[in-house]
Amino acid sequence: MKIILFDIDGTLIKAGGAGTKALNKTVEKLFKVKNICDTFSLQGCTDKTNFEAAFINACAKKPSKKDIDAITAEYLKLLPSEVAKSVKKGIYKKIKGINKILLLLSKHRDVFIGLGTGNIKDGAFLKLKPSGLLKFFTFGGYGCDSYIRSRVLIKAVKRAEKLSGEKFAPKDIYIIGDTHKDIIAAKEAGYHSAIVLDGFGDKNLIMRNAPELIADDFSDLTPWLIWLGLKKDPKGVRRGTYVCPDTPIEHAHFGMTGMDLGDAELSIKKLRRIKNK
Ligand SMILES: [Mg+2]
Repeated sequence: MKIILFDIDGTLIKAGGAGTKALNKTVEKLFKVKNICDTFSLQGCTDKTNFEAAFINACAKKPSKKDIDAITAEYLKLLPSEVAKSVKKGIYKKIKGINKILLLLSKHRDVFIGLGTGNIKDGAFLKLKPSGLLKFFTFGGYGCDSYIRSRVLIKAVKRAEKLSGEKFAPKDIYIIGDTHKDIIAAKEAGYHSAIVLDGFGDKNLIMRNAPELIADDFSDLTPWLIWLGLKKDPKGVRRGTYVCPDTPIEHAHFGMTGMDLGDAELSIKKLRRIKNK
């Protein structure tokens, strides 16, 4: 049995900046400060972190629980119309191939698909609703569970365990996101990580944090299915490491077939031994 957790923004959909606009309007309404989201970076953070940063930058003090509750309530009031505007303008988009992969995964009996998102639960559902993808998700971890992304993922796994009555080992849990923060959170929790490049992530930061798989989107399912262990690697080699036959260079190949980083050094040492014989 495997759990696969999907981030929302930049991984399943792009909501045309609806979340940012709703938070900007919230802060403008409550604290009379315009364009607060220009003062910090929201990408890959939990809503709780973003709401706190917005309050601190607008009011120059730490928010109380009451302050965060007020922001949350107003944000949820404003979000639906911002999402609707994005849909109307044609800037609400699904990531290419997302329907295809979710449909395929939902047919696998031994796969649980859930959400692993920084969005608060109600916000997540509001953002996803126009995509028609909500039907694929029966559980998740949300930005209201914790400020810390890895704890959001762990919470999602706990919910899956409760629902299924099964226990899951970290090696059977796969995180799909679009920013380096998704990778860091997955690694903190000991889970697998993969990245969609057609999201909001910074490519340099993504490369530096070395996810096991990087793909533009879900239009080609082969690398995804190999990474998930649902399809055999056509190269027929040990996952992740191979020697390029035409050169004496050792290639630790990132991204195509999924590399277990823990394995990299060992594999390279082994290749060196073979070559030196
Ligand atoms: Mg994202």
